Amino acid sequence: MRSFFGLRTNTPDDAIYYLTAYFPAHFGQIRRHLKFLKRIALQPCDRLLRKALIQAITTGKSRKISLLRKSLAKLSGLIGFEWSMPVDRILQIFVNMQPNKIINTLENNFRSELSSRIVENHLRHGRLFFLQETLASASRFVFLDSLQPYLAAATIKILTSGHHLGIETGRWNRIPQKERICELCKVLDDERHALFHCGTFNVERETFKDQLIQKGCLTDDLEETTRLILNRPHPTDDQNLSRLNSVANYFRIVLKISLERYHNNRTLSSTDW
Ligand SMILES: [Zn+2]
Repeated sequence: MRSFFGLRTNTPDDAIYYLTAYFPAHFGQIRRHLKFLKRIALQPCDRLLRKALIQAITTGKSRKISLLRKSLAKLSGLIGFEWSMPVDRILQIFVNMQPNKIINTLENNFRSELSSRIVENHLRHGRLFFLQETLASASRFVFLDSLQPYLAAATIKILTSGHHLGIETGRWNRIPQKERICELCKVLDDERHALFHCGTFNVERETFKDQLIQKGCLTDDLEETTRLILNRPHPTDDQNLSRLNSVANYFRIVLKISLERYHNNRTLSSTDW
């Protein structure tokens, strides 16, 4: 119940859900549960469910760790009640509440709060660093609708640190940020390094550049070109879609190679040991 009513506070996950349009569904789920709560509160006094709700409210008033209290922790302010109120009053507020209005407010709050969480994550070079560097705004990615699922998945992974580059695998192993370096180049092994500079991907990067030249859009700065392609508002025309496909496919290849590299390194180091 907690996961239905409550909202997670893990910024990378929230960003992924939001950018892939999962959150509208998630909010819909909360709305359905609020409507259910309202329907129970509206039932005649002798109904079992209504009695159970009154019992849950009574427990919630006396125990801070009650299930209902935890479930509604982030919503009580929006619904407009406090646990110190009498049971009847809380029940009446459930009857009068307007789930659609509550969800609209919740969604707006969530959206603006998520933007500032992403900025904060960027400042400490967190998992959304590259996302914030790359995309003009933290709104839903329009391009996800145009890409094939496997390419959309690769793009999301690169943008939200779902990969096996040192910056991410170092997090798993609690290695300090500045020590998460690329073994080949001895610099921070993050997305920008891998995609635009690292020697490991030289061959693949040249192929990617050739594709962009053929598609008439390579500037001197590969990173800037990539950013421009990803930020096109409507990647629906054939030319834009074709460029977008090249970018996403390059992401996919870098992911694949870095995954292999990660497993090889692990095998090597365990053999050494
Ligand atoms: Zn490197």
